[in-house]
Amino acid sequence: MQYHHAQISTAQKRFWSPSIRELTPYQPGEQALNTAVIKLNTNENPYPPSPQVMQAIMETLWETADVLRLYPDPDASKLCKAIANTMGLEADNVFVGNGSDEVLAFIFKAFFQHTDQPVLFPDISYSFYPVYTQFYQLNSEIIPVNQNYEICVEDYEKDTAGIIIANPNAPTGIALELQHIKTLLEMHPDHVVVIDEAYIDFGAESAVSLIKDYDNLVVCQTTSKSRSLAGLRVGFALAQPHLIQALNIVKNSFNSFPVDSLAIAAATAAFEDHHYFKQTCLDIIQQREFLVRELEALGFIILPSKTNFLFVKHPSYDALTLAQQLKHSNILVRHFNQPRINNFLRISVGIHEHNLKLIDTLRNFLS
Ligand SMILES: *Cc1c(COP(=O)(O)O)cnc(C)c1O
Repeated sequence: MQYHHAQISTAQKRFWSPSIRELTPYQPGEQALNTAVIKLNTNENPYPPSPQVMQAIMETLWETADVLRLYPDPDASKLCKAIANTMGLEADNVFVGNGSDEVLAFIFKAFFQHTDQPVLFPDISYSFYPVYTQFYQLNSEIIPVNQNYEICVEDYEKDTAGIIIANPNAPTGIALELQHIKTLLEMHPDHVVVIDEAYIDFGAESAVSLIKDYDNLVVCQTTSKSRSLAGLRVGFALAQPHLIQALNIVKNSFNSFPVDSLAIAAATAAFEDHHYFKQTCLDIIQQREFLVRELEALGFIILPSKTNFLFVKHPSYDALTLAQQLKHSNILVRHFNQPRINNFLRISVGIHEHNLKLIDTLRNFLS
């Protein structure tokens, strides 16, 4: 039985905690049940995970009948080591959780509840950040991106409880140079600066190299995008050990086993298959550049993307009309009904065949 928020009466809501009555939860993009749909709306990777991932799941299941009977390793040590090896860090620099959404929720709890100073983040960014601030009843100050939709770090020089930005940013796709991240870290030496790098593997420069030098930096990444594992739910934070320790305290006060045994085995295999990872990321970057050329030829304006999606608008057609038109042709893209960006569409990069279908459909509609 599914109820929508609005269909529940005030009387029924008397059981709800008052703070829950007030919450506006995050709205995930539509998940298509129809397999004929070309799904370019939630930035999933168009390629399957490494074959070694499937093999690791099968082997884990068969190697011992006990794997599902027993609790998983609460520290997911094997996975932390594999991530650390990939990143040139140590296992005590790594925290893993049930998707980076959960890791971000723990980050907000662990680092942002200092004072009544605001948490700072951009107006155009990942829409989970305002949900977490509301959830934890934190103050926030929304910092507008500039007219080119870029984050300007000078605008963050103010009193704060902590800062979170996505780099590259979503849904704009625009990346910040490492120099600007450094400026931010040095501007706020007594507060945690979180860099959400969900899309970092598609061409931007990671802040992981700064971890050894900055005791206030937390980098958050995920296996959902560049490692094709959105359904597995594995995200992670990278930082100096004193920050990782705080995340472990939050985790162990909430759920000691956020990453299950099969997910530990599968994600470990994904990090060990470096070749497949490089190859698929490179391919997506090439497909992205193909889409940029084709969409520009159709008159679209495209923000410079270092991600697996494009944020685009058309000078003569409104975004909602285009989204509806594409939906008629079984192509899903994402439209945000939000000030400043309601004339943009966010289009995930698909496999070549799907990208061609997208372009053909748009071309037919525009002509
Ligand atoms: C997709 C995404 C996430 C969440 O990823 P999960 O690991 O699947 O929870 C976090 N931040 C940004 C900016 C994203 O786009």
